Amino acid sequence: MPKFKGSCHCGKLRLTFVSPSKAAALPVRECGRSFCRKHGARTMTDPAGTAMIEAEPGALNAYQFGLGTADFLVCNGCGAYMGAFFDDAGTSYATLNINVFDDRLDFSQPAASADYGAEDAEGRKVRRRARWTPATLKHLT
Ligand SMILES: [Zn+2]
Repeated sequence: MPKFKGSCHCGKLRLTFVSPSKAAALPVRECGRSFCRKHGARTMTDPAGTAMIEAEPGALNAYQFGLGTADFLVCNGCGAYMGAFFDDAGTSYATLNINVFDDRLDFSQPAASADYGAEDAEGRKVRRRARWTPATLKHLT
């Protein structure tokens, strides 16, 4: 299965994403929310894949805004935005910022614009359970 690796600029946050699909077959989105726009993020999720996020001690800033239903993972060292993490009572999901992948240029398909501003907290959770990538967040010691 295709395996994608990525990291923030300083390398203290790292991603591994495994999917049955090749990069070109995965949906790329550009979210219109101001956080994502300000980071220039292009994101991708795959319910059939798995994601692992590893954080060196003290490197992870789990930023929250809006409804506070997900952690937006930013590196404390270099400021790179890695993606968002949603802990749903023990089952976790993530959306990943393609721009931090080593092979980000393989995701050459145009990004679809996305706007989730009309969702309430429950609607947001339902969408994430259905569409985001099952994920693990590992705090390294
Ligand atoms: Zn960093």
